[in-house]
Amino acid sequence: MHFTSLSCLLPLLGMLLFVAGCERTREPARIDDISLARADSDPANWLMYGRTYDEQRFSPLDEINETTIARLGLLWAHELGDTRGLEATPLVVNGAIFTTGSWSVVYAIDAATGQIRWTYDPGVDRTRARIHCCDAVNRGVAFYRGKVFVGSLDGRLLALDAATGNRVWETITVDKAKPYSITGAPRIARGMVLIGNAGAEMGVRGYVSAYDEETGKLIWRTYTVPGDPSLGFESEAIAEAAKTWSGRWWEGGGGGTVWDAIVYDPELDLVYAGTGNGSPWYRDLRSPGGGDNLYLSSIIALRANDGTQVWHFQTTPGDNWDFTATQPLMLADLEIGGRRRKVIMQAPKNGFFYVLDRVSGEFISAKPFASITWATGIDPSTGRPIESPTAYDGLNPVLASPDPSGAHNWHPMAFSPLTGLVYLPVRDRTTFLHRPDRKWRPSVFGRNIGIDIRYDGPLLQEWLSQPPPVGRLVAWDPVAQAARWTVDHPVLMSGGVLATAGNLVFQGLSDGMLVAYRATDGAKLWKFDAGTGIMAPPVTYRIANKQYLTLMVGWGGDMGLINPPGLGPVKPGFARVLTFALDGTATLSAPVFAHSGPPRPALKTNATAATIKEGRALYDTFCFNCHGIAAVAGALPDLRYMTAGAHSRFEGIVLRGERQSLGMPSFGDVLTPGQARAIQSYILSRAAESSAPPRR
Ligand code: CA
Repeated sequence: MHFTSLSCLLPLLGMLLFVAGCERTREPARIDDISLARADSDPANWLMYGRTYDEQRFSPLDEINETTIARLGLLWAHELGDTRGLEATPLVVNGAIFTTGSWSVVYAIDAATGQIRWTYDPGVDRTRARIHCCDAVNRGVAFYRGKVFVGSLDGRLLALDAATGNRVWETITVDKAKPYSITGAPRIARGMVLIGNAGAEMGVRGYVSAYDEETGKLIWRTYTVPGDPSLGFESEAIAEAAKTWSGRWWEGGGGGTVWDAIVYDPELDLVYAGTGNGSPWYRDLRSPGGGDNLYLSSIIALRANDGTQVWHFQTTPGDNWDFTATQPLMLADLEIGGRRRKVIMQAPKNGFFYVLDRVSGEFISAKPFASITWATGIDPSTGRPIESPTAYDGLNPVLASPDPSGAHNWHPMAFSPLTGLVYLPVRDRTTFLHRPDRKWRPSVFGRNIGIDIRYDGPLLQEWLSQPPPVGRLVAWDPVAQAARWTVDHPVLMSGGVLATAGNLVFQGLSDGMLVAYRATDGAKLWKFDAGTGIMAPPVTYRIANKQYLTLMVGWGGDMGLINPPGLGPVKPGFARVLTFALDGTATLSAPVFAHSGPPRPALKTNATAATIKEGRALYDTFCFNCHGIAAVAGALPDLRYMTAGAHSRFEGIVLRGERQSLGMPSFGDVLTPGQARAIQSYILSRAAESSAPPRR
């Protein structure tokens, strides 16, 4: 196994680059704290999730630029052979790509050729798929001293030998009896591997943990919300937080999961983490009597050596709308009001773009980057949002915007120090209907959340009259807190962003198009049809003096959650890894995936209207999350196209787990055979409706 970078072997032009590249990353075993701190001056590699500790996702490479972009072509494509969503940021270390697919499977790929070097499947139990909120996704690995670290969907943290893919150690980071999962990428801070978890939709308590990279031993764990007071509080910060909760909050877990953003500032020696929504969503169920419910929907700053909380900033006090603050955190030094400020920036789900002082947590500024109705503004001295009176009516339904998927979700944003702009994927979906399921109980997805898609009260017409949702790429000036340019997409869902010194911004869309924009004005310069929807961000790197661009394409994840008709084209398809370079001439021969016409129902249902209605209600509770609203192609198979064979085995599949190996969980513990048949009748009625010729 040779990791020596080609650029170190070939005495070519660009000796300076050659020397710089070799000095710092001669061997993967030597990727240490110093290499990571200097990652910015090592553009041949992409060593960390956000490329550098500040996670700006900006590359100084400029061989691919606004002039040469027309020559950018596909170099190779590697099919991963499944149809689940991909969200990972690939890391690139001396010509080797380390990335993840669905079910937390890790791939090491030769970046120049696309040849697989090794794969590692952590063996996640696919029969537990029901407890994952948003598909079997994973956002990538961390790399340190010759090892690759991955968090598995079932809550383990694993260290693999980067050369062989052999497991070095593995540890369980969660209580496996509870519905925890991991989808986020681990981060590295001074010899520790940092990891959080997900599961606030199912009823868990959030925390972030630090493990020794060498042994896998737990060094510290910091909870984000208080647990049962009778067991004692873990820290002063948690004791303080408990004063902002009421009732028996711990019984629902509390939430506040750190499922994505964790960044480290080596200079301040602080770890920053974004915390998630409350569990359950509704403040009246979670903490009757109110309270801010610290540290939900917050940015928290922790001392790296022991995890002690130094400061916190809550973006959405008393969250009631699934407004997580887990969205990507980005560090920068900006000139604001005549002085240089060390800032941390975030565009959380709630629709405000925040700039905070990252030394003290002091609020600097916040402005809306999307249409919002849940708040009327921000108190300029405290940074506290001014909640709109229409946004909350106890447990009664309200219209509110953004929707629970947020004005911005996990899709990484990028910052170019050349333009001073943050390039931000935005979802402008103005409203949603909201009502809790009062039969809430932990561990069953669909009962801890509350988009009541069965709602047919007076707010429905108001909702239907709202403007259609829009997806955008926004170039945001974080100093002026204003958009400099925006591009309206033909789709609502767009993916993570990369900015480069070539005056380019790259972003993929749910319709499968990878697009390059000019960073200064948003002009569309180049596009490529990736054959399936894109969510993951591209990365760029250099081998033997040649610049490459790589990304994971695969439609699923949270795109599967929000796929009602009319939200713009989406393209389900097979997952793959794509790599581009100037003068690349490969063509994508994607296996055919799409249905060629409307469904032809395999069977005709003679169920009564009442049974179909019951089936719809059950479908909306247990099935829509993966198979789509109204049974229209979600992340997983479009059930309207189900074959007669599958229909004949329907009960076995739904109640006895006959397709568990494919990730279809068993619902035998929550559904009766009669209820399963009602769901089947509803699916058949949807197939019949969809097969009818469109009305003119
Ligand atoms: Ca959530």
